[in-house]
Amino acid sequence: MTEQRPAPVGYDDTPFIPGSRYRVHDGTRPQPRIVTPGTASTPESPGRPPSDAVVLFDGSDLSRWAARNGQPATWKVEHGYMEVAPKTGDIMTREELGDCQLHLEWMAPAEVKGNSQGRGNSGVFLMNRYEIQVLDCYNNPTYADGTTAAVYGEHPPLVNACRPPGEWQTYDIVWLAPRFEGERLVSPAYITMLHNGVLVHHHRDVLGPTGHRNVIPYTPHPSKGPLRLQDHGNPVRFRNIWYRPLDVEE
Ligand code: MG
Repeated sequence: MTEQRPAPVGYDDTPFIPGSRYRVHDGTRPQPRIVTPGTASTPESPGRPPSDAVVLFDGSDLSRWAARNGQPATWKVEHGYMEVAPKTGDIMTREELGDCQLHLEWMAPAEVKGNSQGRGNSGVFLMNRYEIQVLDCYNNPTYADGTTAAVYGEHPPLVNACRPPGEWQTYDIVWLAPRFEGERLVSPAYITMLHNGVLVHHHRDVLGPTGHRNVIPYTPHPSKGPLRLQDHGNPVRFRNIWYRPLDVEE
């Protein structure tokens, strides 16, 4: 009978990985941090965020949000979602986000009104400057760089993955903030994004702050900024908004 030996959990006689201070299968390499995963959302209820997420909106109140003038946000909150109160203005988080993984869910009004940019329009502004379009583009043509999930005025999504209005939709965004050295742009922002689980941007370079009918060059700003949601006059709903700060540089 052969002796049962425990399986090795690392080696110290293997070659070094190119560019790394660790060997192949290095037993001294730190273990990944443990995160308890969340649960998926259903049409009836939002899922649970992963254990290390920072929750920005859990359906109960807007305490982590403010109007652009710093006053309390006045969008409607009911039944576990917030709803744009048209003409009250955009709202933004009181805390600031840099590199992050962001999850949010939104719903265009079930009652279809308007067309093109006038139908279910809102927006998610990363760092208060870079808009990912929220729009009902289910059977609603508009200019491609302004369609649902577009980096507004810059990059159309790879595909149109819209659900019909009145159904919850998900955005999952991996955001890398732009890097500046003094006045100089060292690296643009990069976005990778899934819309309803479908890849719509893959490591796409953001060209600068987004605007309407214009091109705006980068100007230096801090490495973090608030997340802003747009009041474009349509009662779009949001729920289950959370992010995980990322430390992606080794
Ligand atoms: Mg918009």
